Amino acid sequence: MDSKTDRCIIDQNSIQSILRQHGQADSVHVREVLAKSQEMTGLDMKEIAVLCTISDPQLLAELFDTARLVKEQIYGRRLVLFAPLYVSNLCANECLYCAFRARNTTVKRRALNQPEIALETKSLVEQGHKRVLLVAGESYPQEGFKYVLKSINTIYNTTSGNGQIRRINVNVAPLTVEEFRELKSAGIGTYQLFQETYHRQTYEKVHLSGPKRDYGWRISAMDRAMEAGIDDVGIGVLFGLFDWRFEILALMQHIHHLEDRFGVGPHTISVPRLEPAIGSDIACHPPQPVDDVDFRKIVAILRLSIPYTGIIMSTRETPKMRQETFALGVSQISAGSRTNPGGYSEEQSQEDTAQFSLGDHRPLDEVIRDVALLGYIPSFCTGCYRLGRTGQDFMDLAKPGLIKEHCDPNALSTFLEYLMDYATDQTRSIGTKLIENTLQGMEPDHQKRARTMLDQVWNGERDVFC
Ligand code: SAM
Ligand code: SF4
Repeated sequence: MDSKTDRCIIDQNSIQSILRQHGQADSVHVREVLAKSQEMTGLDMKEIAVLCTISDPQLLAELFDTARLVKEQIYGRRLVLFAPLYVSNLCANECLYCAFRARNTTVKRRALNQPEIALETKSLVEQGHKRVLLVAGESYPQEGFKYVLKSINTIYNTTSGNGQIRRINVNVAPLTVEEFRELKSAGIGTYQLFQETYHRQTYEKVHLSGPKRDYGWRISAMDRAMEAGIDDVGIGVLFGLFDWRFEILALMQHIHHLEDRFGVGPHTISVPRLEPAIGSDIACHPPQPVDDVDFRKIVAILRLSIPYTGIIMSTRETPKMRQETFALGVSQISAGSRTNPGGYSEEQSQEDTAQFSLGDHRPLDEVIRDVALLGYIPSFCTGCYRLGRTGQDFMDLAKPGLIKEHCDPNALSTFLEYLMDYATDQTRSIGTKLIENTLQGMEPDHQKRARTMLDQVWNGERDVFC
């Protein structure tokens, strides 16, 4: 895609003009937009700009209440769990915010070999994980991109006891269409890539050298992924680099572009906020920091703008912020994460190989207990992707609310699997009560299906999904 075409994806002038025109909105207008949000059909750019202006505490409370309502209606109380698996921190790029940047000599470089990746996988499986996000810097060992394909193969083929990773999502640098085809053939779930900032001038300021400096190559990555047949893609912004209001509207333009061209938008949106990273001034002093109130606003506005797109919250955030945003719109969380290659299976300090500091250091079992005590159902479901319910097919089920028939029982059966195979006694006792309470609240048909699946798991079957 040439730079002229990539300018068609993001039109900075139109975003800035919408933000200027809707820089102030009265309470009547805000309430009109909040009322429309409850129809759960999404919002247009102007309506989103109106929500971005909210600062009055009463309107803010109404925004959060509306987001809670929409989240509950569409996603119920489910929260999908995953863990990142960092295979390598080698990188050719100079992204000023990241500890893995090429010129940062304070970080020890390491690309795990395949036996080491198997050990990392085993360690995640033994904690109870079923979904991983493979992450790497933009430079691979000698074999090049094949390293990523081999790593995927290793992860899928590693087992321990009853367990195995059932879905691998991938967050690696933009690829060619041919490479994306190979990635699809390797059986990935979602291909994830963040634009970091959609604002060109800022993008150029923070990406000093390496292939990532090319804004056009990065923003057109999802087009190539979709051309190659990957219909579950995840996009995101690294909040703190530029004005968050601009970034949200640009995200919407990116989504509209994908919808217009391929008939389907992204499966997920990630909302990383800049965290301190060794050897990065920008990461420690973000140019346009997003405070906690605005961060909650971002999640709530996204929930209302694109009701059927998953929102992912990582362990960059503290347990408190994570809990608050579950209610506002988050549908997937990472847990027990390490951002250093080898971090799960080896006793080593995170300090000199990690990508950034974490806000939530708790092990998976503790996160699950906490999530369950809050009344959310931790889900390790991988059903949709394995039954081919991806891209447009997924959205066709999600929009009329039909996907719940699958998600609810699948969440319960995978949660019970976790409780039986990996949980501490305390978590198991809290979790089994939650499962029973949840069953009581289900429609009779769904309850029947869920009970049958749960019985299968109680009787020793594993990987039960519909
Ligand atoms: N190297 C590939 C890339 O840059 O797209 C993929 C992996 S990169 C390790 C994953 C993401 O980490 C980046 O897209 C960026 O948003 C995020 N990241 C980098 N530095 C960060 C920091 N200091 N705080 C929070 N997130 C950060
Ligand atoms: Fe490399 Fe990705 Fe970090 Fe940039 S964000 S330095 S590309 S690992």
